[in-house]
Amino acid sequence: MKLFVTGGAGYIGSIFVEQALNTGHQVTVFDNLTEGHRAAVDARAAFVPGCLSDEAALAQALRTAQAEAVVHFAASALVGESMTNPGKYFQNNVGNGAKLLSASVAAGVRKFVFSSTCATYGFPDRIPMTEDLPQRPINPYGESKLMFEKMLLWFEQLHRLEFVAFRYFNAAGASGKFGEHHRVETHLIPNVLKVALGQKPQVEVFGTDYPTPDGTCIRDYIHIVDLAQAHLLALQPGKRGFFNLGNGDGYSVREVIQMCERVSGQKLKVVESPRRPGDPPRLVAGADKAKDELGWKPQFPKLEDIVSTAWTWHRQHPNGYADGA
Ligand code: UDP
Repeated sequence: MKLFVTGGAGYIGSIFVEQALNTGHQVTVFDNLTEGHRAAVDARAAFVPGCLSDEAALAQALRTAQAEAVVHFAASALVGESMTNPGKYFQNNVGNGAKLLSASVAAGVRKFVFSSTCATYGFPDRIPMTEDLPQRPINPYGESKLMFEKMLLWFEQLHRLEFVAFRYFNAAGASGKFGEHHRVETHLIPNVLKVALGQKPQVEVFGTDYPTPDGTCIRDYIHIVDLAQAHLLALQPGKRGFFNLGNGDGYSVREVIQMCERVSGQKLKVVESPRRPGDPPRLVAGADKAKDELGWKPQFPKLEDIVSTAWTWHRQHPNGYADGA
């Protein structure tokens, strides 16, 4: 298919683009590079620098790409930042998102795949979390993604735009070529690996008094290539709706640090810090729906594989994409 990928220069987008090209799709990446990196765009893809706020540029790019499907990764995606700058989240994720939906319909796009998040659930009523749980976001990031989910339902009903929205749990790991490089890194695994690389003095554990067996937060880590593969399955005609993407296994912050120590062969300096605002104690996916309805089969469900691929990439790219490679 001819795919139009927003945010294709970002972490998740870049690896989706690589996998999509590997399976024969044609890809145009539309990205303003505020979060993404030019070097993260696979050389086989067409690249259009641009911002979703620019309706004329967006319409032109969709036309030139002859887009059949849009895969929408571009977003502001930091919980903490959303608590200090909520306007940015509603502007980028909802306002610019609405422009993309309208432009997609005008360009004749028939399928829309969206990056949503488990942050739309807030504090879950049950673990594992299934798609039917109530959605009560506890931060503007989660709220903005939920608002977009609702827009999708209306665009489906009124414009017959078929959509799949994936509620991601914790994406991590790397493909052979592409990996995780945020200019400001807040995520656990890359931050721990930076300590192993000698780029940070110590690992900070945010909160050790949660109601979990070792007192630290539990998350469901999913390999980035498995995440990307689910998006390819979503492109099949007739597939629609909301799907969680996770492995159904929870690991605490301490367990992740131990795995990073094992994979890197180093003992890391760890300090205990206060809780980070907005962190639920435990988020673990029930992802049977994606398996049953999309035929999704994760290839790398083990935390060890997730951390190992991240470690290999970070060692090969100690400065991420900063040196253009
Ligand atoms: N975390 C931590 N130290 C760090 C980064 C993250 O203790 O340097 C914790 C964070 O508080 C959360 C978990 O690790 O409980 C996963 O955080 P991350 O930012 O990777 O993903 P999130 O679950 O917030 O999307």
